[in-house]
Amino acid sequence: MFNIGLPIPPGFFITADTYKEYITKTGIIFDIKKFLTNLNVENTEELQERANMIQKLIVMTPVTDSIKEEILEAYDALNTEELTGGKKQDSFVAVRSSATAEDLPEASFAGQQATYLNVRGNEQLMKAVRMCWASLFTARAIYYREKNNFDHMKVLISVVVQKMVNSEEAGIMFSVNPATNKLDEIVIEAVHGLGETAVSGEINPDIYIVDKEEEIIKTRNLKKQRWGLFRSHDGKNIKVNIPEEVDGQQVISDEIVLKLAKYAKQIENHYGKPQDIEWAVEKNKVYIVQSRAVTTLKERTVTEEVFGDAIVRGLTASSGVASGPVKIVLSADDLKKVIDGDIMVAPMTNPDMVMAMKKASAIVTDEGGITSHAAIVSREMMIPCIVGAENATKVLRDGDVVTVDATHGKVVFGKTEITKEKKEIKPKIPTNTKIKLIMDIPELAEEAAKTDADGIGLFRLEMLIAENGIHPAEYIRQNKDEEYANMLANRLKKVGDAFKGKPIWIRTSDVRTDEYRGLRGGDKEPHETDPMIGWHGIRRALDEPRILKAEFLAIKKLHDRGYTNFGVMIPFVINVDEVKKAKEIMREVGLEPCKDAEFGVMIETPASCWIIEDICKEGISFVSFGTNDLTQLTLGIDRNNEKISSLFDEMHPAVLGEILGVVNMCKKYNIESSICGQAGSRPEMAKFLIQIGIDSLSVNRDSIYKISDVVKKAEEENEKKIQEDSQQKLAEASQNVPEMQEPERFA
Ligand code: PEP
Ligand code: MG
Repeated sequence: MFNIGLPIPPGFFITADTYKEYITKTGIIFDIKKFLTNLNVENTEELQERANMIQKLIVMTPVTDSIKEEILEAYDALNTEELTGGKKQDSFVAVRSSATAEDLPEASFAGQQATYLNVRGNEQLMKAVRMCWASLFTARAIYYREKNNFDHMKVLISVVVQKMVNSEEAGIMFSVNPATNKLDEIVIEAVHGLGETAVSGEINPDIYIVDKEEEIIKTRNLKKQRWGLFRSHDGKNIKVNIPEEVDGQQVISDEIVLKLAKYAKQIENHYGKPQDIEWAVEKNKVYIVQSRAVTTLKERTVTEEVFGDAIVRGLTASSGVASGPVKIVLSADDLKKVIDGDIMVAPMTNPDMVMAMKKASAIVTDEGGITSHAAIVSREMMIPCIVGAENATKVLRDGDVVTVDATHGKVVFGKTEITKEKKEIKPKIPTNTKIKLIMDIPELAEEAAKTDADGIGLFRLEMLIAENGIHPAEYIRQNKDEEYANMLANRLKKVGDAFKGKPIWIRTSDVRTDEYRGLRGGDKEPHETDPMIGWHGIRRALDEPRILKAEFLAIKKLHDRGYTNFGVMIPFVINVDEVKKAKEIMREVGLEPCKDAEFGVMIETPASCWIIEDICKEGISFVSFGTNDLTQLTLGIDRNNEKISSLFDEMHPAVLGEILGVVNMCKKYNIESSICGQAGSRPEMAKFLIQIGIDSLSVNRDSIYKISDVVKKAEEENEKKIQEDSQQKLAEASQNVPEMQEPERFA
């Protein structure tokens, strides 16, 4: 800090090597080792006894002459006239220890080694130095080292001797707000006199919050402090009362607050990490007396922002934080580079990449929105993922070690203390509304069932098809319809086993022509100008009915094996005729729609919303809102286009209006209404849907607890409203009742 021009009180260091030299040359190293062998640190008494013996040994053993000479020479150099106000005298110094393992991010040893203030004179100084060294062997320090597997003899200690700042005001400051984890705020705490009272918490300090960017004071929280600790002439710390007229006023001026904030920024930049800094003011001059990393940030949760400048920014597709080396995946050839724990960075992911994605600790893509392939898969696999990062594949290089803070949509250089943060999945809390899951990968079904979800509201076949490697159309070209059906049934069985007795809605395939070219036979897919609104979903299924039939057959096979809880739904419907034809094909495999198996329609085109009454009349078991496509088509926002992703909003009144209309119509026809688009995992959407009386929701696995909480509260509100309404009606009705006349005979 001195070297970057910060105002540090003058001083000198007694290096860790000096300590080593001391214990070696005096030979006490052997005694220390002896005291530490066969020590059971869990035995408090024994630990304390040995600690005392070692410390006594160090304090009682004089240093060698050469070391002493050097230390006193350095001390003498501090005793200049200028520094001690006119005449040469021994300076008051602070003697602090600094262990080599102190303040490592992994283990905060801070505060375990001693600090001696107001030390004056050669003898006192030499004693303070030995006491600092001895503090390496307090019972607590020994215990910590044992528990954290530090070699006692490898942890050294250096001592800092610095001229005491005889402070009129002092305190601590943080280059980030440790209370809120806001990175753009500096928090300064100030007390009268020495800073000890602020550090120890004896006095409630003034708190100033400064906007880091703008360098303006945002808030001043002033306190009545009543007294402060000041240094007397003989070097004792004494309590001094703060005069009434000053107490409660700002301890330090705005000018000093802002100066301190500037230093905090400088120090944070210097160390590249948020800092916890001690400062002092003497005769209006600011001194920085200590700085260390804010270690409490390591206790951060997934919701707290990782510190550092973003080198890449994008959208949160799947929240969480992970660090690791970057692997850029530009082609299928690059996939083999990805090993466990890597950060996979690609222009976009596609279904061929799922195996590699499973290994990655985080995924970053240049393209895509929150309903893109990478987003869907990473959410399901619970891997942190950022999409739409635009230039990630260009900015990042193979081997760069980075931290992906997907929760905040940013990538920073370097590893973060928590290299991997396992998302804790809390199960659903009971609700009246059914809450189901969205799933794509059968192997995760068992794990997913632990959430107590009420079933699966959307199981997409596409991921399963991709992993299998053969395009559905190819199966048909090869006349292997049955093989396709068997493949599906075998894989889906796992889901059936995990969700016994609960509804599982399988969506018939919705394969867009551009996404599955990598599969066998995929090269025969047509090229379309806009595959998003092209030949996919039910329109394609009816053009290639054997694919659809094979998929229905898979459901039939599952039913035959006793898994009668499997239902189906068809995607991208725009006409009643599509519904009618799909039902006919289902009958061909021996399943009566709505009777043998639930049969539903995805509501994901505005057309389907407009014709909902006719769809209901045709006869279906349920509808499910595919809000990803419904929003895309209603708003005219390509869901994969990161340029316009900020406009992609499922809460747009147009989308909500469509949903409301459909839910109301379904109520009229007694048809279950549900949602399976990503929006179901948004609390505000869940609340809206409960308010309008939807029957069930489907969410991502990691959102189920939160959404169930939202649902429960919304249900309670609904209930309350119903009660209030009926009370209101009762009150209104009672007003119209004429005053009861006393029957005459009792008069
Ligand atoms: C949707 O469109 O909301 C949906 C669930 O289907 P997909 O994301 O597979 O298009
Ligand atoms: Mg869709």
